[in-house]
Amino acid sequence: MDKLEKLERQKFIIENKITETKTSSHGFYCDMCGKFYPKKKCKIVEVFEDGGFYDCTLSICPKKHDTIIDD
Ligand SMILES: [Zn+2]
Repeated sequence: MDKLEKLERQKFIIENKITETKTSSHGFYCDMCGKFYPKKKCKIVEVFEDGGFYDCTLSICPKKHDTIIDD
C-alpha cells in the first residue's frame, strides 16, 4: 500500500465514523456546534416536499442548527 492509498483509506474510515455518530440512536452530532447531543435534547423533524413526498429528516440541536440525518 503506498502512502496516498493509506491516506485515502484513513479518510474513508474517518468519514464513516462521522456518519455513524450522526445517525446514532443515542443522539446526533452537530457540525456547527462541534458537539454531540443526546437525542432528548434535539428535535427530529421530517421534511416533506410539496405533494407529500418524503425529502429528508433533520435534527435540530438546542442552538437551532439543523443537520440532515437522513436523506
Ligand atoms: Zn448546533
